[in-house]
Amino acid sequence: MRKKFKFSQVVTPLGTPPLKGEEMGKLAVYEPGEILVEDGRILEIGDKTSPAPYTEEYFGTIAIPALVDAHNHLPFGGERLREFQMKLEGHSYMEIARAGGGIRATVKATREASFDELLQVSLQRAFWIIKNGTASTEAKSGYGLNLQDEIKQLRVARALGEVLPLDVVPVFLGGHDVPPGEDKEDYLQKLINEIMPRVAQEGLSDYFDAFCEEGVYSPDEVERMFRAAKEMGFKLRLHTDEFSHTGAIPMAVDMGAVSVDHILYASAEDIKKIAGSDTVAVLMPTVSFFLRLDRYAPAREIIDGGGAVALGTDFNPGSSPALSMFFPLWLAVFKMKMSMEEALAAATLNAAHVLGLGHRVGSLEPGKKADFLVLDLKDYRQIFYYFSEPRLVAVYKEGKRVISLPRQWEGM
Ligand SMILES: [Zn+2]
Repeated sequence: MRKKFKFSQVVTPLGTPPLKGEEMGKLAVYEPGEILVEDGRILEIGDKTSPAPYTEEYFGTIAIPALVDAHNHLPFGGERLREFQMKLEGHSYMEIARAGGGIRATVKATREASFDELLQVSLQRAFWIIKNGTASTEAKSGYGLNLQDEIKQLRVARALGEVLPLDVVPVFLGGHDVPPGEDKEDYLQKLINEIMPRVAQEGLSDYFDAFCEEGVYSPDEVERMFRAAKEMGFKLRLHTDEFSHTGAIPMAVDMGAVSVDHILYASAEDIKKIAGSDTVAVLMPTVSFFLRLDRYAPAREIIDGGGAVALGTDFNPGSSPALSMFFPLWLAVFKMKMSMEEALAAATLNAAHVLGLGHRVGSLEPGKKADFLVLDLKDYRQIFYYFSEPRLVAVYKEGKRVISLPRQWEGM
């Protein structure tokens, strides 16, 4: 079935991702903008497309690609409200851990939840994710940290994508932490010899992810996991340099990691290494905001050096319970010195590339899924100018309106 849409302005990044350096700052702007859709895919886009009656006409609005969340821990059990409150009251990380908080609390809650319970709570979160304009997201495991519970999280992630108008990319975060009460070396052996091969065999994730940080895993330990993962056919991603400089970035880039994530403490050499590679820096400024840190990732330096940046929410119960991609978009501009155009490219096409979806979503181009947002704005720069309210009026997934919000007063 064909549908034709008309807007005051349509804005999209273009090209083969990852967009790097100056490419990130170039957007195509069509004024007015038309999108011709057939069977959920974009057939034509431009200021004028082939003659056909408009099926949906949005006067005075703009359309942008639906947002893509490159870093999201969606299927976990519980929340950490008491811990949040303790943090605001000024308690230290150790005090919080002693009070039963931290990642271990989430591991416990995730293990205790049945598949159905985990699916239920994740479905509810996913609704709010879509309602805030995200049509493709990552969903990491990493709170099970044993065979059955890692698999449970990954199956929940897959189920979400099957029932919702949301592309969900499950990512196996088996190297998130050392399971509570276990010996690190024992877990590493179990991870490499039992859990990883099962996830690969069952095709539950194309990616392996780990956390390199002081007190978690060292660069050498990550390299050991990465070698095994690569041999089993996994693509690689890495949480690193979030709270300290680890030295893991060159290793991850040399091993061909799709992304290095967080990297607040990347050195000048690390930045150069990323900028000269296809590895994408995935940045989540919501974490700095939520943890009340003064430091943000060096997005400007990476882009100026010719590298690629993508954005994510890092939705997780400890350091960023943020479901909306608009907040990282705003912070990218206000706190990471990214241009508005770069931020949009990072939250759409480059994020799609990180998730292996760069050929299907993330930009409005012929052949791609007709995943787009309708905003009650006249110019894409108003997304940032009127920060705090994106004026979202509709979310389209494969040419179908899945979310619709009022655009005017009701009952006046
Ligand atoms: Zn994360």
